[in-house]
Amino acid sequence: MKSCSLCNDEQKQATVYDSRGRSVAIDGSSLVFVENYREYAGGMLQTQQSSLPINYCPMCGKRLEQGEE
Ligand SMILES: [Zn+2]
Repeated sequence: MKSCSLCNDEQKQATVYDSRGRSVAIDGSSLVFVENYREYAGGMLQTQQSSLPINYCPMCGKRLEQGEE
């Protein structure tokens, strides 16, 4: 079965970065983005997290294991 660094079961903590510099990880059946940014130069570093429910890995297309539904 194909897998990649994003969804590989043996590397669940693997972090990849998308084109905007956000770290991307799969948590269950959600894709979680964590973005660090500063509101202004020299300001406090802010962290913004967002998640997106997914069924397939966006990098390699592997179907993700789903819970009972
Ligand atoms: Zn994958």
